[in-house]
Amino acid sequence: MKKQFAVIGLGRFGGSICQSLSEQGMEVLAIDLNEDKVNEFANIATHAVVADTTEENTLKSLGIRNFDHVIVAIGDNIQSSILTTLMLVEAGVKHITVKAQNDYHEKVLNKIGAHKVVHPERDMGIRIAHNIVSKNVLDY
Ligand code: ATP
Repeated sequence: MKKQFAVIGLGRFGGSICQSLSEQGMEVLAIDLNEDKVNEFANIATHAVVADTTEENTLKSLGIRNFDHVIVAIGDNIQSSILTTLMLVEAGVKHITVKAQNDYHEKVLNKIGAHKVVHPERDMGIRIAHNIVSKNVLDY
């Protein structure tokens, strides 16, 4: 059976995750508060819904605990990101990946039980720096 993913927050980060998972043939539920964002992904994701994931009943009615992997890509609103993550943990979602906005956010996300916390700008900076160094090493 195909793996079922849900992506919460369709900004640049969540949107590109959603698009890439869909291109790889995965089942993806795209979720955002903003109707325009949801419409943008209606033809890309398997399903796209307008929902506020800080509402426990909304998450329940989406059947969120049945997804194999949920990605929380709510950036600016740290409170919503933390609350959403906490409810996913409490619902027993097996894999939860969350985008952190800063070190404090990351610390709280780890503490409440997120399985993987990513910090895209920082992680990408580190990767690129390693890449540059290893390229230079090869060049000499
Ligand atoms: P990026 O840098 O990836 O564009 P960003 O940090 O700008 O991300 P935000 O705009 O803060 O990201 O949030 C990403 C998306 O999350 C937005 O489209 C926003 O509507 C959505 N979002 C915020 N809060 C919620 C929520 N409670 N439920 C669902 N979606 C939400």
